[in-house]
Amino acid sequence: MIRLGAGRLDRLVALGAHCDDIAIGAGGTLLALCRARPGVRVDALVLSGGGGEREQEEKAALAAFCPGADLRLTVLKLPDGRLPAHWDEAKGAVEELRERADPDLVLAPRTDDAHQDHRGLAQLVTTAFRDHLVLGYEIVKWDGDLGRMAAYQPLTPETAEEKVRLLQEHYPSQRHRPWYDREAFLGLARIRGIECHTRYAEAFAVTKLTLNLGD
Ligand SMILES: [Zn+2]
Repeated sequence: MIRLGAGRLDRLVALGAHCDDIAIGAGGTLLALCRARPGVRVDALVLSGGGGEREQEEKAALAAFCPGADLRLTVLKLPDGRLPAHWDEAKGAVEELRERADPDLVLAPRTDDAHQDHRGLAQLVTTAFRDHLVLGYEIVKWDGDLGRMAAYQPLTPETAEEKVRLLQEHYPSQRHRPWYDREAFLGLARIRGIECHTRYAEAFAVTKLTLNLGD
């Protein structure tokens, strides 16, 4: 196991089906990445939750998870749990983002996520971003879909703790969910850390990866 760098990383796209997906799946990675690259451009697209309390939560949360970044967030109003019925609208939004952003890295759900909204968005992303490194984040859930992951971003204990703190602070609407707690978030990060010989980590699925081992 080695540490592959991503090369130049000036522009990043992050996508989520729901408010809090990006932060749960890749919040620690965003914190580490944005701290290391002040001014990095982050284009974030969330398909549902627009126009209400959840959009306000997401705005404040992503601002905190992307310190010092040039963050542009769009939150659409597609109904939660109904992505297949709103496929064209979602596809249009992902393609529109692809048109205006040519990112060095894309953070998105995994194509084998058990939640149909997550899975559907993941499929749209791999179609639209064909020449990009796409990392598929994971979200713990009742369905039990966690798998064997291909890529790991180690997190310092401070970053892992900060992620959990920001999740608790910025998404009061989600605190009632039985799995939305410190043990779940830190526990998964600890397990992923064990798998890559560090204390904590976030893990990502990679569908395709092109290497540059020549000159
Ligand atoms: Zn979700």
